[in-house]
Amino acid sequence: MPELPEVNAKKNHFDQVALHQKIEAVDLIDTSYILKEISGPAFAEKLTGRTFTGSYRRGKYFFAEMDNGDHVLFHFGMSGRFRYYDDPADQPKYERFAFDFEEGGRLGFDCPRKLARIHYVEDLDAFIAKKNLGEDALVLKEADFLEMAKGRKGTIKGFLLNQKYLAGMGNLYVDEVCWQQGIHPASVIGLLSEEEQRAMFQNMQAILQKAVALDAVYPDYPEEWLWNHRDKGGTCPKDGTELQRDKVAGRSTYYCPQCQELRS
Ligand SMILES: [Zn+2]
Repeated sequence: MPELPEVNAKKNHFDQVALHQKIEAVDLIDTSYILKEISGPAFAEKLTGRTFTGSYRRGKYFFAEMDNGDHVLFHFGMSGRFRYYDDPADQPKYERFAFDFEEGGRLGFDCPRKLARIHYVEDLDAFIAKKNLGEDALVLKEADFLEMAKGRKGTIKGFLLNQKYLAGMGNLYVDEVCWQQGIHPASVIGLLSEEEQRAMFQNMQAILQKAVALDAVYPDYPEEWLWNHRDKGGTCPKDGTELQRDKVAGRSTYYCPQCQELRS
């Protein structure tokens, strides 16, 4: 599942190829399941003749803004991605629809597993409120994080994954934050001292910023992170202990049994 840095990379790509381009036609191929609350023909009619003027990312949600002030929300799911191309031979195999731009070039939406969800959004604030979507994890203020974490009984992992508290964190980045801080992800968030909660917040934003700066290209992530070691038989980059795999908050979790203290 793409998390905040992965969606940010998709946003960078979109901004580069699609902004200020006028849509001449919307080519519908198979939009079943992925288009929500709007039919393919209605979607095509609303988009045709429009120009993308901006974009906004909040957590894992990406909103493309148009010249009429409306937005198209892309929630990418496991396999959704944009593909920009000129040569029809480059059309991706599972392209579900595409925007043909007036000045040439075509932005296809490729989605093999149809797990993406796309909405036409007339009122952005109302949509975000209805989704009960928290502030973006990179925009969230430390004081608000501390306020939400204070006295909370759930696990760190459950808290950081809950998109209504903060938007954008996912399974892998939560494990990274906990490992870097030396705290077991099943620890109760409210049992951390305020100082530890503050450190966790700062650590989380630093990790996300680094991942964003690296455009979510995993092989470029620092060797000293847990990230590229979380495999079966992988060892802790700090002390060489074999990593453990467990379910925490319903998600597959890697941690070091030596370095990460459980508080419960
Ligand atoms: Zn370790």
